[in-house]
This record gives sequence, structure tokens and C-alpha cells, in this order.
Amino acid sequence: MTKLHDLIAARIQTSGPITLADYMADALMHPKFGYYASRDPLGAAGDFTTAPEISQMFGELIGLSLAQAWIDQGQPSAFALVELGPGRGTLMADILRASAKVSGFVDAARVHLVETSPALRKKQADLISGPHTNVTWHDDVSTLPDLPLFLVANEFFDALPIRQFHRATAAEGSGWRELQIGLQDDKLVAGLSAAAPISFLEHRLDDTKSGDIVEHCTALAAITENIATRIATHGGAALIVDYGDWRSLGDTLQALQNHATTDPFANPGEADITAHVDFEAIAMAAASANGGAAYTRLTTQGVFLERLGIVPRAQTLALHLSGDALDAHISAHRRLTHPSEMGSLFKVLGLYPTNAPPQAGLEP
Ligand code: SAH
Repeated sequence: MTKLHDLIAARIQTSGPITLADYMADALMHPKFGYYASRDPLGAAGDFTTAPEISQMFGELIGLSLAQAWIDQGQPSAFALVELGPGRGTLMADILRASAKVSGFVDAARVHLVETSPALRKKQADLISGPHTNVTWHDDVSTLPDLPLFLVANEFFDALPIRQFHRATAAEGSGWRELQIGLQDDKLVAGLSAAAPISFLEHRLDDTKSGDIVEHCTALAAITENIATRIATHGGAALIVDYGDWRSLGDTLQALQNHATTDPFANPGEADITAHVDFEAIAMAAASANGGAAYTRLTTQGVFLERLGIVPRAQTLALHLSGDALDAHISAHRRLTHPSEMGSLFKVLGLYPTNAPPQAGLEP
């Protein structure tokens, strides 16, 4: 068992069962033993792979969509180019390379990265910082500069801690039973609290029945409201890419280690733990932010990338490839866009000012 397992067990022994959100916060972000604190989890040798690690085309097209939004909003002469949870920095490097062809964009960009992991900050610095790119890191969105904000977040929101609620049956009481992590024979185990009404789930009483599960990401609203207020006040645009859907329903908690699923409670700190993203909650938080930002329709990753021209881009890149490299390129394109791969599971939501057009690739 991991050191973190013992720390969490000791905490439960002293003060009782903890929420799933508290458990995830420790398992992922504990400063010493958390999953993201000390390692690079990405790539073939890690636990999971993400779209920017699969093909450069992903970041190139995201970069061009952001650059088009910048043009549509009058090319502000200084703006913050922001990424939440940049991983190895591959996506931002691809954005900067592709958008360098858009006159004035990179010169006006100040790169700001929101990243808590020291190990990944170092990777990002190696890949992105240089004599021509000044990078500033932030622990969270609250310290971002007061500038127009052109932002991307790929597989960031799925890593934020969630609480999970099970709709109670009539015999169990009214309201919801919350998933809690407790101790059994020194092992961490999940159980359910007694039923209680939950004020922020009142609206879910209409569309759920006994036994249904809904998940609630605790930090999502505050992060989204912060970003949306900046976009409403200073201009800009956000592209949020993740797996999930419009409105949370069902148990989507998942732990991955070495590219295989594992028990989320067995080895805290050793496995990546994620949940599907509730895009409706992001849209509602954006709309209710101070000043209110507009949101696009939720679009699948496959459709988004095709609308931005991934097919001609893939053909151009293919001209220079042959043999195994060509095969890998073709299968990477398929992985990003095909409905049976990432094309449908992953979705894209855009946030933008109410007086500007929606982002390229996300038009109605
Ligand atoms: N966007 C990258 C990496 C996704 S992994 C890619 O597509 O490849 C999730 C990233 O979010 C990691 O960089 C992780 O360290 C970071 N992260 C997770 N939770 C965070 C939090 N609460 N605050 C800031 N960064 C976080």
C-alpha cells in the first residue's frame, strides 16, 4: 500500500469517512505523494495518452481557431494566451508554431499556464520557454492578468475532484446518498451516506429516479465563472475539450494505470483518477458569470476538427511520409476523429463574448 493510502487512512480513522472530492484532491494533488505532483503520466510509457500527444494536427487546428477568434475581435495588441493543465506543453507548442503564420498573433500573445505539478511545469518550460516566448505559471485562474483571454483546456476539467450522489429510494429517505470513502480492515472502501436533501441538486429531482447517480465537480463553477467574467470584461475566447456530455448522469469515475483501468481506491497517488465532464454545468456557470459569457453548442471533437480542416491538413502532412510513419499518421488522424475512437466521446464547448461570433469549428 502507498504512503498516501496510510495518510488518508489515518485521517479517516481520526475524523470519519471523507467525500470522493476530498479523496480525489489528495490522490491527484497531494503536494508530495499526489499522482500529478511528481511524475509525467502521459504518453506510451505513462498511464494515458491525450489528443495533442497523438498528433500535432490537434494543436495546430486549436491554434488556428483561437487565432481566428482573435482576428474576429479586432486583433487586440496584447492578450493572454492561456492553457489550463498543459501536461507536457505539447499542445501549447503546436498552437504557437501553427499560429506563427497569423500575422501579429504570437507577438501580441503573453503565454500563461495554469499548472500545479512541479514535474510538469518543468517539462512545459523545456518545451515552450525560449528567447521569444515568455511564460508565466499560475497555481489557479485567479491570478491570470487582466487582458483579453484566449484559452484552451484539454483534459483539464476531467481531473478536477467530484462528489458523487445516488438518488435515494423511498425506503432510504428523501434526497441523495453521497459516496464516501471509509475504512474496512485497514483498506479504503467506498460506501454511501444516509439520505439527505442536497440544495444544488434540486433541479435534478425532475429528470432522475431512485438509484440514478449524478456527479458534481466542486471547483468547476468557480473556475468557469472566473474565466467567463474575464472574457465578458476584456474579450477573448475559451475552447474546452474533454470527455463527457451535456448534463451528468451515471457513474463515470475511472482510474487508469499503465493504460488499463484499476480500482480508484486501491493505490491512491499511483493511478490517474478522472470523471466525465458535465458541460451543461460549464455553460450555466459561464452564462451566470458577472457580465455573462455566451457559449457555443456542444460539438463532438470529430466534427470540430473536420470543420477546421483536419482532412486537408492530414493530406498535406501525408505527402512527406511513407511506410510506418505514414501508417502511424493515418491511424492518429483516425484516433482523433473517428466516432468509435475519440471522435464522439470527446466534446468541445466554446465560451465567447456576447457581442462576438462563436469560434471557428463551433458555429451553429
Ligand atoms: N492538457 C494536457 C494534459 C492533460 S492531463 C494534454 O492534453 O496532454 C491534466 C493536466 O492538468 C496535467 O498537466 C495536470 O498536472 C493538470 N492539473 C490537474 N489538476 C489541476 C489543478 N487543479 N490545477 C492546475 N492543473 C491541474
